[in-house]
Amino acid sequence: MSEINQDELQKIWRSVLIGVELQIPKASFATWLKYSELIDKKDGVAYVSLPNNFTKAWVENKYNKILLGGVRLIDDSTKNIKFVVKSVKPKELFEYAKTSAPTLDNSNEKQLVFAEFKIDPNTNLNPKYSLSSFVVGSSNELAYAATQGVISDIGKKYNPLFIYGGVGLGKTHLMQGAGNEIKRMYNDQIRVKYVSSEKFTSDIISGIKAKRMEDVKRKYRDIDVLIIDDIQFIAGKEKTEMEFFNTFNALYEVNKQIIISSDRPPKAIPILEERLRSRFEGGMVVDVLPPDYEMRVAIIKTKLQQKNKEIPDSVIEIIANKVRKNIRELEGIVNIILFYKEQKGLEITPALAEDIIRKNTQHTPENITPQQIIKSVANFFQILVDDLMGTCRKKEFVKPRQVAIYLLRDMLELSYPYIGELVGKKDHTTAIHSYEKVNKEINTNNDLNQKIILIKDIINKSEE
Ligand code: ADP
Ligand code: MG
Repeated sequence: MSEINQDELQKIWRSVLIGVELQIPKASFATWLKYSELIDKKDGVAYVSLPNNFTKAWVENKYNKILLGGVRLIDDSTKNIKFVVKSVKPKELFEYAKTSAPTLDNSNEKQLVFAEFKIDPNTNLNPKYSLSSFVVGSSNELAYAATQGVISDIGKKYNPLFIYGGVGLGKTHLMQGAGNEIKRMYNDQIRVKYVSSEKFTSDIISGIKAKRMEDVKRKYRDIDVLIIDDIQFIAGKEKTEMEFFNTFNALYEVNKQIIISSDRPPKAIPILEERLRSRFEGGMVVDVLPPDYEMRVAIIKTKLQQKNKEIPDSVIEIIANKVRKNIRELEGIVNIILFYKEQKGLEITPALAEDIIRKNTQHTPENITPQQIIKSVANFFQILVDDLMGTCRKKEFVKPRQVAIYLLRDMLELSYPYIGELVGKKDHTTAIHSYEKVNKEINTNNDLNQKIILIKDIINKSEE
């Protein structure tokens, strides 16, 4: 018999969760603990229910201590937590996730050598991205586990799966790996399609132009697993977003799986339509973070193993120590070092490795040109560069013009007369006025502020 009633249990659990929420990443909290409940507490045991085995195994493993600590703050007679599943799922997902943990076998190695350029025209998947070559560590285990969850329960479990994180942290690899795995497991019975959001956008635009929107719609709605990469680029493109939303709903309603990546979480995509945002947030949102030292070492070793190459441990340590930004850069440096070793026949000493790294990782954000800014702003607002630089006073052109002027000053510190010249021979007072207007407005107009952050981001990325 329990000595406490449901209300009290709920209250206790709510305060435990409030404490826990502050200690773990938001995405993890939403993913693993959102549906947890305290269902009983007796004889020193707190009984916590979770919606399925997978979550149970995960929470038991990762959050047992932190949750117990939380309960004990309120009632220190509690000695442990027992997790139970409330609505039972048919599959032991966690077992599945464990058995398909990354291994590197020879067949995969061979596949990698040949596969590089054989992109499957039906699915757009590149076979070089496999889950078995994906190194899992603390920075991406959540995303990896969620991907496994998707694979084992397509369309039902985590839908949509939304993976976000910075450049070169493995989003594309993970999503394509999932696509390839699904293809392999289901012998092509399940139709997978991978598209970049640029491709999706251009399909829609050409569909509209050629008045063949029905074909485009059919093409997308015939898919069982739709993978869309870098969704942040469709935000604010009205027609594309609307069509994406329709496609999304059509697929979602019949339990088709959608996997999306973005460089930021849904709520940080400034002009994403609200209903689309809430759809994204209604699924599973997970992040990938930059790899820590151990993982960087593991990745370097994996890449070397795949290529059947070796470099001394001392050099691996130096690379892992100095190249921290992202995995793409890490791979790049490994390749350059191999190049020095093999093509130039040099012995890779720690000193040489440091020198190579120093020379090849310097970033020069000063590469940004005024034209790039103007083009990015015009693209972002979906107007022509000519209209941005023109004299028309229509609101749809004036705002982008002001934003471009603001960014030219803010990012490149150009003089006002030169800025005036750049945006279509305007007087320098126009440049000053525009800059100051935007500079003031971003303090009060959050929408504009977010747009500017996003445009800056796009500009910064375009020179990488
Ligand atoms: P993103 O899409 O997040 O920008 P990518 O998936 O393109 O990043 O990854 C960049 C490079 O790093 C790719 O060559 C990819 O294979 C490699 N990579 C990323 N994460 C991992 C990982 N966890 N294990 C092995 N390789 C990885
Ligand atoms: Mg990518």
